[in-house]
Amino acid sequence: MGCTAADVVAALRAAAAVVQEHRDELVRLDQAIGDADHGENMKRGFTALLSRLDTEPPDTPAKVLKLAATTLISTVGGAAGPLYGTAFLRASAAVGDAAELDRDAVARALQAALDGVVARGKAVVGDKTMVDALTPAVTAAACAEGTVAATLSAAADAAAEGASSTVPMVARKGRASYLGERSAGHMDPGARSTELLLRAFADAAAK
Ligand code: ADP
Ligand code: MG
Ligand code: MG
Repeated sequence: MGCTAADVVAALRAAAAVVQEHRDELVRLDQAIGDADHGENMKRGFTALLSRLDTEPPDTPAKVLKLAATTLISTVGGAAGPLYGTAFLRASAAVGDAAELDRDAVARALQAALDGVVARGKAVVGDKTMVDALTPAVTAAACAEGTVAATLSAAADAAAEGASSTVPMVARKGRASYLGERSAGHMDPGARSTELLLRAFADAAAK
């Protein structure tokens, strides 16, 4: 079974709930190696998205993803806002005007999202950013078989490992890079939020 516009809306609502739940955790992670605002930035963006989904629910998956993109770009701020905004914008473009997304479309959308983040932020694996969570997620989604839920679950599992892999890394991109060696020993907040978003999408798809 494919993933309709309403399913994408439900996935984004689930993501908003998870972001709100983990707001303090993301603030703490960003406090250690950044400026302590990632949790609040993400919460602000996803709260704005919730209200837009209420008032103007779009009728195709691509339009829902585009609304997420424009909302996050204009409300999250910081480094993460434009990066997540670009990710959703590229994902939207990748799925075209299909009424339902199958697992291949979801895998393609994730690949496009990663390509957008890399084009915008120029980070590579090992730089201690969200790219360290999203890259293995894209690979896992491409190799996964079965349903949309199974594809997203494989992506979320891989993102969790990718987020954990950032702990010993020395940051080479973003604010954390200003700390040099002192950035080691902490998980990257953006890698963690990427993991949380993918887990929320997977859980929503399984319902
Ligand atoms: P800011 O650093 O401007 O306060 P946030 O705290 O909201 O923004 O987001 C920080 C996160 O953004 C980092 O944890 C990292 O994952 C991600 N990030 C920063 N710079 C880059 C980049 N060039 N490429 C990919 N991700 C990045
Ligand atoms: Mg920050
Ligand atoms: Mg900031």
